[in-house]
Amino acid sequence: MTTVTGDLSGDSPTRKIPAIEIIAPRASDSWTHTRDGQPRGYIDARRLRELWIHTGTACNLSCPFCLEGSHPGDGRIPGMTLKDAQPFIQEALDMGVEQFSFTGGEPFVIRDFVHLLDYASRQRPCFVLTNATDPLLKRRHQLLPLLRNPHPIHFRVSLDFPDAARHDKDRGAGSFNKALEGIRWLHEQGFRVSIARQTDVGEVPARVEAGYRAIFRQWGIPEDLAFTAFPDLGVPGSDDGSPEITETCMEQYPTPESRAHFMCTYTRMLVKKGDRVRVYACTLVDDDPDYDLGGTLTESMTPRIMLRHHRCFACYRFGASCSAPG
Ligand code: SF4
Repeated sequence: MTTVTGDLSGDSPTRKIPAIEIIAPRASDSWTHTRDGQPRGYIDARRLRELWIHTGTACNLSCPFCLEGSHPGDGRIPGMTLKDAQPFIQEALDMGVEQFSFTGGEPFVIRDFVHLLDYASRQRPCFVLTNATDPLLKRRHQLLPLLRNPHPIHFRVSLDFPDAARHDKDRGAGSFNKALEGIRWLHEQGFRVSIARQTDVGEVPARVEAGYRAIFRQWGIPEDLAFTAFPDLGVPGSDDGSPEITETCMEQYPTPESRAHFMCTYTRMLVKKGDRVRVYACTLVDDDPDYDLGGTLTESMTPRIMLRHHRCFACYRFGASCSAPG
């Protein structure tokens, strides 16, 4: 399955992504109908299985392709603290959540992140998207005690291409080697690690992944790490002109089971807005206020989610999911 990641951070000092939110299209019924007036496709949530926590859009890198528009000092989404997230973690546990997942920005830039991860991994397995460069490497000593927590922590590290120069072009010189150092260290300590990579049109996945394996061999990293490949999802506030999803399109997924790969059926994401925490439908739509589903997880499970965001088409077409590979 093709999957996508929230940590697409990188380094491009010349480009700043504006901190904007999508302006709702003018048509008053655009939430429920497509531009040509057809009923829009939708998802009804089933059960909360995974709670994502957005740690904030600050990042040590500033990749031009970042779907969060993250860069150093970015405050579009402020940093999450343990105190902010704790009541929601408790509510999620009461609702039977199975996993806590974290994305940014770069989570290890956020001062309170290790406390938050420590608390969450005492409750349930955790999944963290990271670029595994300096912010993580500098906090290695803080991560080690978390190995003794009752639940495992899985890290998905962004390594865009099996080519140092191509990876470093957007992320900054030396980022490729630092990420490999982070991957090797995490694996050696006993953390589970997988890789988020980018895709090229017409690529042969087996050939691309063989390129990674050759590099892993040189670094003493296991060759069987799982890969998550993602399509280009655009920067915040953009609309890539993807086709709109109608109710008729959704007949391709007629049963609740066949819709289960849409993350909004089973996940929610906590996003800090000013000094409040809000619940969004999934990890891909925090730039559109119509996907703000409320101030509690319980109330967020009721509204019907209309597939209006252009990234919904990636879920429809590719079965995109930010969740961990099985
Ligand atoms: S991008 Fe759209 S379809 Fe995909 S999980 Fe989010 S709300 Fe659902």
